[in-house]
Amino acid sequence: MPDPHVSGLSVPELLELDRRHVWHPYGPMPGRQEPLVVESASGVRLRLAGTGTELIDGMSSWWSAIHGYNHPALNEAARDQLGRMSHVMFGGLTHEPAVRLAKRLVDMSPEGLEHVFLADSGSVSVEVAVKMCLQHWRSLGRPGKQRLLTWRGGYHGDTWQPMSVCDPEGGMHELWQGVLQRQVFADPPPVAYEESYADQLRELIERHADELAAVIVEPVVQGAGGMRFHSPAYLRVLREACDAHDVLLVFDEIATGFGRTGTLFAAEHAAVTPDVMCVGKALTGGYMTMAATLCTARVADGISRGEVPVLAHGPTFMGNPLAAAVACASIDLLLGQDWQTEVKRVETGLREGLAPAAELPGVRDVRVLGAIGVVQLDHEIDMAAATRAAVREGVWLRPFRDLVYTMPPYVTGDVDLARITAAVCAAAREG
Ligand SMILES: *Cc1c(COP(=O)(O)O)cnc(C)c1O
Repeated sequence: MPDPHVSGLSVPELLELDRRHVWHPYGPMPGRQEPLVVESASGVRLRLAGTGTELIDGMSSWWSAIHGYNHPALNEAARDQLGRMSHVMFGGLTHEPAVRLAKRLVDMSPEGLEHVFLADSGSVSVEVAVKMCLQHWRSLGRPGKQRLLTWRGGYHGDTWQPMSVCDPEGGMHELWQGVLQRQVFADPPPVAYEESYADQLRELIERHADELAAVIVEPVVQGAGGMRFHSPAYLRVLREACDAHDVLLVFDEIATGFGRTGTLFAAEHAAVTPDVMCVGKALTGGYMTMAATLCTARVADGISRGEVPVLAHGPTFMGNPLAAAVACASIDLLLGQDWQTEVKRVETGLREGLAPAAELPGVRDVRVLGAIGVVQLDHEIDMAAATRAAVREGVWLRPFRDLVYTMPPYVTGDVDLARITAAVCAAAREG
C-alpha cells in the first residue's frame, strides 16, 4: 500500500482506510456500509471516483446545495475572498463579508429580527439560541425560566441542548434519555389545523410558563425527525400563547430557510416573527459550514441589561470571512432570480413524478411542499436495498427510517427531476 499521506490512492485503498479510521454520520466504527467515493461535483451531479459514474443529487448534500455544485458565482466569491483572507478572528476585529451577510439576513428575514450571531454549524446556532433565551430571562431576574417546550417529531441538531428537544422517541437520541435536560413535549403537530391540538399547546405553555424560557419548533416542516408538514396556523397559536405568558419563541429554520418551502422562510406562511431564528444548511449554498442565530431587539436588550451584560459565546471561527463571502453570493444568486417560480416548478415536478408512488404496495403517504418530496412507507426501509435501487436509476438518495425523500437543488432541470422521482419510486418499491 502506498504512503497514505501521498495523494493518488486507488478507490479500494481509500475505502479500506476510510473503513478503518473515519467516522461517518451516525455510523459504527469500523464502518459497516461501504460509502461511495465522490471525486467531484458539478451542477446537480456527483461524479464517482474510479468508474466515472455520475449521479443526480436528490439530496442537495443534506438540503444545502440549493444552486448545485461548482457554481461559477460561488466559486468566484470564494476565490476572491481567499485572495484577501480566508479567516481572521472575530474578537476585536470585523470585516466586510460578515457585516454584509448580517445586513442581508436582517433585510430578508421576518420584520423585527435585527441582531445576528454567526455560528459555525446549525447545532451551534441552536445552542446559541437557547443560551440567548435563558440569559434573557436570567437578566430580567427570572432565572427559573430555563426549560424549553417543543412538539414531538422534531430535530434540532446533535449537540446537547438541541438533542434535548429532538423527538424523544424513535429519534436519533433515544439513547440519551435520562442524561439530557428534561424538556416539555407536546404531541406531534397534526397536518391540518385542529382546535383541540391548539388548546393543548396553549394549555402546556400556560401551565409551564414559570419554568419555560422558550418554545422552539421547526416551522411548517419537521425535517430529520420525520419529514412531516403541519398547518402554519399553529405558529400563530404559539406566538399568541408565548406573548400571553412571557415565553420566547424560537423558530429553527435551518432546514426550511432560503426558499425550500416556497417562501423565503417558513415563518412567512403564518406571517409570524419569532423572537429568535436559526438558519444554516443552505446559508452558504452548501459550500461550507456556517449558521446564524437572529434575534429581536427585545431579546438583545434583555441580555444587555443583566448583571453580565454580554452574550458569553464566541467560537474560534466565528464569522469566517470565506464562508460569509460565499453566503452573501449565494443569497444574491437566490434573490437575483425568480426563485419562487423555480421552486414552484420543482414542486410541480415532484407532485407529478411522485404521484404513482401512492399506488405502490407498502406506501402509506406521499407528500410534497415546495422543493420537498416525501414518500412514507408502512415499514422500516431496507436502507442498503433502497439506496442501491436509486443508484441504479442514476440518482443519489439517502432514505431513513420509513422514509424515501428528496430535497433537490432548485436548479434541477425537468428531465433530471423526472429521474429523481423515478428513483424515489424505485427506492420505495425495493426498500
Ligand atoms: C440540520 C439541522 C440542524 C443541525 O444543523 P448542523 O449544521 O447539522 O449542526 C438543526 N436543526 C434543523 C431543523 C436541521 O435540519
